[in-house]
Amino acid sequence: MLADVLGRPLRNLRLSVTDRCNLRCEYCMPEEEYGWLPREDLLHFEEISSLVDIFIAQGVDRIRLTGGEPLLRRDLATLVGMVAAKPGLNDLALTTNGVLLAEQIDALAAAGLRRITVSLDTLHADRFKALTRADELARVHEGLAAARRVFPAHFKIDTVVIKGVNDDELADLIEYGKTMGAEVRFIEYMDVGGATKWGPERVVSRADILDRLSARYGAIAPVIEHSSAPADRYTLPDGTIFGIISSTTQPFCSSCDRSRLTADGMWYLCLYATQGLDLRAALRNGASTGDLASMIRSGWQQRTDRGAEDRLALGDRRAFVSMNSLKKDPHLEMHTRGG
Ligand code: SF4
Repeated sequence: MLADVLGRPLRNLRLSVTDRCNLRCEYCMPEEEYGWLPREDLLHFEEISSLVDIFIAQGVDRIRLTGGEPLLRRDLATLVGMVAAKPGLNDLALTTNGVLLAEQIDALAAAGLRRITVSLDTLHADRFKALTRADELARVHEGLAAARRVFPAHFKIDTVVIKGVNDDELADLIEYGKTMGAEVRFIEYMDVGGATKWGPERVVSRADILDRLSARYGAIAPVIEHSSAPADRYTLPDGTIFGIISSTTQPFCSSCDRSRLTADGMWYLCLYATQGLDLRAALRNGASTGDLASMIRSGWQQRTDRGAEDRLALGDRRAFVSMNSLKKDPHLEMHTRGG
């Protein structure tokens, strides 16, 4: 088994298919202007498929399609079909903001998509508009209803919790998840690249989330399970399960088996990595399958990344990357490397 310096296997690949997004969420894309990856640099589906084969041969067995907003990538269902058919792949999931989901979900499911996660940060239309700078909550609800219909047992809702913005909606979102048959996961606001409005005072910690939900529901029990998934899961007294991704206050780098491939073929070994490996250049310069496999193996074997733990150890913590650096290199943006 391929393992990094800290003994972590390479299993999960987050595959970004576009850096474009149709929302402008405050915690991810708060600026007015963005520089985009040149279109000619985006990997073609055949190139993605070849790289996926090589990743699978190195141990990857779970892939999540991300963006930007992945449903903006034209003919995404074609790519889903190409990836879903790969022997050795045990899971193919997608994270979306839901705006375009209702119109694409049947084609995605028919192509072999197995699970879906929809981002939903608020149930209030006015808040949604303020948070995302788009009046699209109604279409997101259509997408959520479609997800409930098509992926009834494999459907999650992700909520980034920000103090003073939506932290009064925790129980409402849990109740909404119950009606939709979806597991809700609360994500601590992270100081990743692009989160230029981040500040520690805006984070609602896992401990806070549990306190607030306990006050409403009573005793909350942790779900005991061995998993490298980022969410710790909990059970409410009525059996409802929800998750918390506490990357900011209680990072889980020690079990992190995820890497990220951007839409233009840069491979990053950590959400906080400032350097990546340019697999597109190697591929387009004629590297063989063996050469690419060696690059991936050697990159992973040298991996020491523990970005979120390093950030936590800093103590005094502000936005991770300056606006100037983000403007010079869009690869540092969370929306480029798939969150
Ligand atoms: S910060 Fe980096 S090493 Fe830690 S969990 Fe996230 S991606 Fe993995």
